[in-house]
Amino acid sequence: MDLVNRFLRYVRIDTQSAEDAGVTPSTPGQMEFVQMLRGELEAMGLEEITLDEHGYLFATLPANTTRTVPTIGFIAHVDTSPDVTGKDVKPRIVEKYNGTDIVLSAEDHTVLSTEEFPELLRYVGDDLIVTDGHTLLGADDKAGVAEIVSAIAYLQAHPEIEHGKIRIGFNPDEEIGLGAHKFDVKLFGCDWAYTMDGGEVGELEYENFNAASARITINGRNVHPGYAKDKMLNSMRVAAEFIGMLPKNEVPECTDGYQGFFHLVGMKGGVEQTTLSYIIRDHSAEIFTKRKDMMQACVQELNNKYGAGTAAIELTTQYANMREVIEPMMYVIDIACQAMREAGVTPKIKPIRGGTDGAQLSFMGLPCPNIFAGGVNFHSRFEFVPVQSMQKAMMTIVKIAELVAKR
Ligand SMILES: [Zn+2]
Repeated sequence: MDLVNRFLRYVRIDTQSAEDAGVTPSTPGQMEFVQMLRGELEAMGLEEITLDEHGYLFATLPANTTRTVPTIGFIAHVDTSPDVTGKDVKPRIVEKYNGTDIVLSAEDHTVLSTEEFPELLRYVGDDLIVTDGHTLLGADDKAGVAEIVSAIAYLQAHPEIEHGKIRIGFNPDEEIGLGAHKFDVKLFGCDWAYTMDGGEVGELEYENFNAASARITINGRNVHPGYAKDKMLNSMRVAAEFIGMLPKNEVPECTDGYQGFFHLVGMKGGVEQTTLSYIIRDHSAEIFTKRKDMMQACVQELNNKYGAGTAAIELTTQYANMREVIEPMMYVIDIACQAMREAGVTPKIKPIRGGTDGAQLSFMGLPCPNIFAGGVNFHSRFEFVPVQSMQKAMMTIVKIAELVAKR
């Protein structure tokens, strides 16, 4: 099976990305991997193959129809998470999974148990690719890479399936948030694309958070505590007051789905000065604006109460919900849903509680929702991917290509 063999070959290459490397790609392993991939794409006879110095690898499967069809793309990232090592990945296939616990490593008692990971039970009867308990698997996102390459091979082997020009793109450093910034959208040249980087089978995402960070600086007035009456202003106590002014339940630990939040990510203080670092998240652009307004109003209130200059806020926009880019072209989502159904998959549309490369790309001019790659327990030694999920993702790509040509 080409798909599985590709995947097993890909995960053996260590492509873990690294924070703060200051270069793209952040690690040499990623470049090694895309160079190997380039060789593979050349051997398949793909066209317009480019690999730039930052590790972005693009290629084309030319159209096999003379009709005018939009050019679409499929994208996956080649790096794995900095959280868990991706060196010496030794994947193992558990055939026809029977619903019991899977011992990953007997020597260190690492067990993929159904009690801790009940999602396992959704895959009884499937063939699961698991780790040896010492590394992550790298299905995030080498499952996506293998699915894209295999789908292209499938289309080449089935010339009776009519399709337009298909572009494929592999990028580095997604896991450190730097996958999109050097992506040459113009060179890629697609009407739209899909990242194959979602989790479980059926997942389809085109909504992510609107995101900003806020830094609140509170200035106090220090006086010898013995003589402080009516003079001292303790900035830490004012900061505590500020924290108390925001809605108590609108925090990450109390929210899910479409609920946004204020998240206090850092505080540093003394009597003289305290700084609070927040991130603000919401899917709704309107509520997102209200959240920022609310923070500013709280700062104003403290200034009214304790004197001008007591509190200041600095807001920085981080990223925006790609929904506003996708919504005027909902056929992009409809096609993906129909393709999934034709591949035997029930689409599960859900909002992303974070950002994606696709969101950045969407605002760079390449509308780019995210489709499942099939893996479970990303960034973990307990990561696994059912072979059948990968096959469904691969067929989803094939069906999308087919449906786009039929429009
Ligand atoms: Zn990923």
